[in-house]
Amino acid sequence: MASTTFVIIGASLAGAKGAEALREAGYSDRIVLIGDETEVPYERPPLSKQYLQGKQELEKAFVHPAEWYGDHDIDLRLGTTAAAIDRDGRSVTLADGTRVAYDALLLATGSSPRRLPVPGGNLEGVHYLRRIPDCEQIKATLRTASRVVFVGGGWIGLEVTAAAREAGIEAVVLEADELPLGRVLGPEIARVFADMHRQHGVDLRPGSHVTEILSEGGRASGVLLADGTRIGADAVVVGIGAAPNIGLAEAAGLTIDNGVRVDASLRSSDPHVFAAGDVANAFHPLLGKHIRVEHWDNARKQPAVAARAMLGEEAVYDRVPYFFTDQYDLGMEYSGYIEPGGYDDVVVRGDLEGREFLAFWLADGRVKAGMNVNIWDVNKQIQQLVQTGGRVDAAKLADADTPLDQVAAS
Ligand code: FAD
Ligand code: NAP
Repeated sequence: MASTTFVIIGASLAGAKGAEALREAGYSDRIVLIGDETEVPYERPPLSKQYLQGKQELEKAFVHPAEWYGDHDIDLRLGTTAAAIDRDGRSVTLADGTRVAYDALLLATGSSPRRLPVPGGNLEGVHYLRRIPDCEQIKATLRTASRVVFVGGGWIGLEVTAAAREAGIEAVVLEADELPLGRVLGPEIARVFADMHRQHGVDLRPGSHVTEILSEGGRASGVLLADGTRIGADAVVVGIGAAPNIGLAEAAGLTIDNGVRVDASLRSSDPHVFAAGDVANAFHPLLGKHIRVEHWDNARKQPAVAARAMLGEEAVYDRVPYFFTDQYDLGMEYSGYIEPGGYDDVVVRGDLEGREFLAFWLADGRVKAGMNVNIWDVNKQIQQLVQTGGRVDAAKLADADTPLDQVAAS
């Protein structure tokens, strides 16, 4: 049989895992992994946590050691941008004009930070965090600044705020909504995070709308809010969400719908093109709808399903969505998926004030999502509750003496 080529665009977590999964599935033909960053594929979580805080070596963030790609005969093209996809001719054109033909293509192009659309948004001293060079800049800022304003109280905002406070820097967090993380966790549990940051001395200001980045000598010197308040700062860190990198897919005429729309096997509207990770809006059989997940576990695990589908095997991605965070001395894992208003009860087991608890979001008596905060080795059981979706007894769920596999409603 003629030799084939599988091309992967995006050499980060999903891309590297895609290459790994293809080799693990026995694919021995050519794999080309194209990425516009210059570092070997790496994981981003340490960039807002251990690496940012100088507690971890950069190499620990690498998905594989640099030599792994050569050892597995993967043609890794770093610092290389894929400029266009020719679906009829089944080839990818690189920025330098080179064409790479493919038999199957995996899009792992991820997402990029949303920019703050206000005057001064591009000033020196305004930081976004996605890549290693961004992290290096913020790391340097945390060594010298006395006061930093964070625009956006999402995961980036809160994790970097924790790093700043641990470095002894004054932190002001400006969140547009009533509570940071309110949209993801709901008010009952988002409050735990708000209280924790305030207890660590953070000046948290919900309902804040930044209208301008102020400058002094060409550098950011603070922000102006819609109500006229001026807040001075040595630097501004913006974390107001991410948008999927769909440019290539859109130009190639693939179906786009909040990312690249793919089926449960991660196949796009073109049977030769697949997508995984942050860029993929995939049909999730458990939820019965398409979802796009911007978290590490999804980018790590989806590619194995895409790889099997690329090889013509039956494969479906139905893992319960999962993510984690670390802030100060709080470690947390969350499993499940809920949209705002998608639950009618929150059940807590444990000590909410002491930040050692489990929380469950229920709809119609069934666990839709669960979270463990500073309690470990329960995540599998929480996932099981979400996966099976049976009715539970809320009193048993709240009772720490009742094992989680015995909380079914009678
Ligand atoms: P990305 O990581 O976005 O990678 C896509 C890659 O494709 C990039 O290198 C991009 O430059 C490249 N690319 C795009 N277009 C092209 C092109 N045309 N040509 C060549 N290359 C291209 N999740 C958690 O669950 N827990 C955490 O604690 C956590 N912490 C995080 C901390 C930070 C600072 C950030 C930014 C994210 C964090 N996440 C976390 C989210 C997680 O990192 C992402 O979900 C994950 O990186 C998605 O991986 P991906 O490979 O799909 O996309
Ligand atoms: P995010 O988690 O989506 O949070 C963005 C936050 O900014 C939200 O609270 C949002 O409020 C708020 N916001 C939006 N526009 C705003 C504005 N103009 N002014 C003030 N606040 C505004 O995104 P992120 O923190 O920027 O992170 C970027 C990406 O990295 C995301 O994909 C995220 O999932 C990922 N990440 C994940 C983790 C983790 O899982 N632990 C850690 C770091 C990064 P609303 O919700 O009300 O819109």
